[in-house]
Amino acid sequence: MSEKAASTNGFVQRLMKRVPYTPATAGLGDSTFAKSHKGSSRFSFFKRRIKLKPNSSISIPLGFVLLFPSIVVLLILALVVKHPSSPGRILIPAGTPPSIRKISEKHDRVFATGCLNPEEAAKQPRANAAFVVLARNQELEGVVQSLKSIERHFNRWFHYPYVFLNDGDFSEEFISGVQNYTSGKTEFGKIDPSMWGFPDWVDHEVAKEGINKQGDAVIMYGGMESYHHMCRFYSGFFYKHELLEKYEWYWRLEPEIKYFCDITYDPFVEMARNNKTYGFTIAVKELKETVPNIFRYAAAYKRKYKVNSQGLWEMFLEPQPEQTKETEDTREKTIPNVILETEAGHQNIPEIDPDNMEGEKYNMCHFWSNFEIARLDWFRSQEYNDFFNMMDRSGGFWMERWGDAPIHSLAAGALLAPKDIHYFRDFGYRHTTIQHCPANAPARQSPNIPYLEKTTLNEKERIEEDEYWATANLDPPKENGVGCRCRCDTDIRDVEGKEGSCLAEWVDVAGGWASP
Ligand code: GDP
Ligand code: MN
Repeated sequence: MSEKAASTNGFVQRLMKRVPYTPATAGLGDSTFAKSHKGSSRFSFFKRRIKLKPNSSISIPLGFVLLFPSIVVLLILALVVKHPSSPGRILIPAGTPPSIRKISEKHDRVFATGCLNPEEAAKQPRANAAFVVLARNQELEGVVQSLKSIERHFNRWFHYPYVFLNDGDFSEEFISGVQNYTSGKTEFGKIDPSMWGFPDWVDHEVAKEGINKQGDAVIMYGGMESYHHMCRFYSGFFYKHELLEKYEWYWRLEPEIKYFCDITYDPFVEMARNNKTYGFTIAVKELKETVPNIFRYAAAYKRKYKVNSQGLWEMFLEPQPEQTKETEDTREKTIPNVILETEAGHQNIPEIDPDNMEGEKYNMCHFWSNFEIARLDWFRSQEYNDFFNMMDRSGGFWMERWGDAPIHSLAAGALLAPKDIHYFRDFGYRHTTIQHCPANAPARQSPNIPYLEKTTLNEKERIEEDEYWATANLDPPKENGVGCRCRCDTDIRDVEGKEGSCLAEWVDVAGGWASP
């Protein structure tokens, strides 16, 4: 502080030395000032000249000496407030805003902030629900990774059953392999060709050529026929599979995923209690080239069935620039008029955005469906199936590479309201290179409940595995964190703060931000 003041004074001195100073002009200046402000003594204090050193011939007005440091301080403040990371409002210099923002609880809120007692929660009756795992035999290792993760963080207390589905036959190795890691009942089902592969009404050769074309265009998974079948199965059939008939709820589990936090309550029960239909943990933007025409058909569904948005559809729309009065052309559009207005060599036609559909444009957002907790009866509803059938008939599952994620999301957008959706913000989750980490909730953590896996026979390894999740190794709590005993991977950032995340779009329809 004093060091800074001293250097400021030094700077003032240097500045004064460069300006030639004569007592005569100074006197003139003084008298001019005095003349024009006759009778006013208010400024005389600031006009008083002081010498910076007792025997120096240089003197400067006291007002300048006082003003200069104030300007410097104000400049620093202005720079802080105008910083690009500042959210456009005045920052209070003391204390930085929390890195996690609160979301309005108008339509949705986390079911639990921090840890509850999972052993107590597990004493409550279960929901009629199961995990659904679609997989191939060769994915056993990845499936085991996912099972170990969900068992450690949740199912060791709740023991929900698993339904494994495959378009082929599960091998003995796969069946016994997964059973080593599951604490709930397991069922294995084969998917009937009526739910997998090209249906009769499509020309298989044309469909295959459509897929090949996407392969040539290097569209992600575009040239892989089985991937198209998988997406169509998850879009319109999984909920009709006989092994799922008896269930009301499902939780989708994929190979090679990770959960980072303990889930110490029953999410199915909470979904039911809060009247929720569909739950997600990550919302991101789709690769445009995989779904160039998906929105056209989804919007056409809405028009055909006279479906009105209940407030969720807007999550999937690009913001439209508002048309101002001046830009609106009110002249009558007749062909002669258009010709007259057309300059030679120019087409005077307003630019048409080929992706626009009735003034709306898809923003590519979707709930990432490799994690889903949802109500099966919504998928089984007439409305959802009308939607799926209309999408299916367009051929987009072959001629484009529509994923089940945008299909589920646009259907939700058309048929559900924000209050029907739940954001599992408290679930730490990773699939490939995208992860969400909720950060631990301050003061709402609980001690480790040891979990030594039965399948790891090496005692040292078993202890080491549990040690990874020991309290001392967990992430530090953060303001507005909602997680319980999280330890997230550190090689990638949380998707919430990344380009390509659709959190902002969700927050907009969910009621906005509740904290800076
Ligand atoms: P990504 O998550 O989009 O990269 O795609 P995945 O390869 O993880 O596939 C999504 C899900 O479908 C996973 O559960 C896979 O195991 C499963 N899956 C994908 N293709 C097939 C297939 O041809 N047969 C079976 N049985 N499962 C598949
Ligand atoms: Mn996957």
